[in-house]
Amino acid sequence: MKPAAFAYAKALSLDHAVALLGENDSARVLAGGQSLMATLNMRLDAPGLLVDINHIPGLDRIFRHDGRIEIGALVRQSQAERSAVIAEYAPLIAKALPHIGHRAIRNRGTLAGSIAFADPAAELPACLLALGGEVDIVGPEGTRTAQADDFFKDLFETALTPRDVLTAIRIPAATAATRTGFVEFARRHGDYAMAGLAATARADGNGLRDVRLAYFGVGSTPVRARHAEAALSGDAIDEARIAAAIAALADDLAPPDDIQATGAVKKHLAGVLLRRVAKQLMGEQ
Ligand SMILES: Cc1cc2nc3c(=O)[nH]c(=O)nc-3n(C[C@H](O)[C@H](O)[C@H](O)COP(=O)(O)OP(=O)(O)OC[C@H]3O[C@@H](n4cnc5c(N)ncnc54)[C@H](O)[C@@H]3O)c2cc1C
Repeated sequence: MKPAAFAYAKALSLDHAVALLGENDSARVLAGGQSLMATLNMRLDAPGLLVDINHIPGLDRIFRHDGRIEIGALVRQSQAERSAVIAEYAPLIAKALPHIGHRAIRNRGTLAGSIAFADPAAELPACLLALGGEVDIVGPEGTRTAQADDFFKDLFETALTPRDVLTAIRIPAATAATRTGFVEFARRHGDYAMAGLAATARADGNGLRDVRLAYFGVGSTPVRARHAEAALSGDAIDEARIAAAIAALADDLAPPDDIQATGAVKKHLAGVLLRRVAKQLMGEQ
C-alpha cells in the first residue's frame, strides 16, 4: 500500500523542528523512517506533515561524560554497533543491537527513534529501562529530562507529546562491577521477539546488587520485574535463588496473548529467559 498524502518539511534546528511540529495538529517527527514509513504505508497513521530532523546538526554523536554515555537522536543503530564507546561502556546496548531487524534497517534506524516509537516488543526501550537511563526532550515549553521508569506510559505511548523532539538518550557508563544480560526468543533472527529480557546488575563478591530486569514482548510497554529483581539480588547466586526469582515472576508479569504466542507460552519463556540471563549476570555467559 502507499501512504495517504502528507506535507514534508526539513527542520534545520531543534527550535525549527518544534516550531514546525506546532504548525500541524497531526505532524510527526521523521528520523530513520524504519517504523514510521511502514506505519504510513499500511495506513495505520495519516499525519498531515512529516518534520524531517535528519539535517539538524549535532545530533549524531556518541560520547562519554560524567560517568554517562550520551547518544544523540540521529545516531543510527549500525553506527552504535561500530562504536568503541558503546562496546566498552554500553555492553547491554551492544548485545541488543544485532537483534534489531537486519543491517539495512539498522543503517537508517536510530536508537532514539526506537525509544520514541516504544514498540513493547522492541529491544532498545527495554535496554533503556534495564539501564535506568533517561532521555532529553525539547518542546514548546523548553527542555526537560524524563527517567526511563516514567517514560513508557502505554502501548506506543510515552512521555513525549506530539510537539516534542527526543534529543538524546543517556545511560550510566559501565564500570568493572557492571554486569549485563540480554536474551530473546524470536522465530527467526531479526524478527521482533516473542519475549525478551534485558538486565543489569552490580557484581558484589559472589553476589549481585541493584538488579534490574526489563522484559519486552510481554505487555503494552517494557516491563520491570521488580519482585524477581529483589529475589535475584543477594550474596550468593545459586540455584535456589534463581528458582525463587523465577517463581516471583508470577507477581510481575501477566502477558496477554498476541499474534506471536499465547500469554501462557510467554510466561513460560520469561522463566527460561531469566535463568539464562542470571547466568550472564554471574559472568558465565
Ligand atoms: C522489517 C523491519 C524489521 C524491524 N525489526 C525490528 C526489531 O526486530 N526490533 C526493533 O526494535 N525494531 C525493529 N524495527 C524497527 C526499527 O528498529 C526502527 O528503526 C525503529 O523502531 C525506529 O527508528 P527510526 O529512526 O527509523 O524512527 P522513525 O521510523 O523515523 O520514527 C518512529 C516513530 O518515532 C517518532 N520519532 C522518531 N525519532 C524521534 C525523535 N527524535 N523525537 C520524537 N519522536 C521521534 C516518529 O515520529 C515515529 O512516530 C524493524 C523495522 C523494519 C522495517
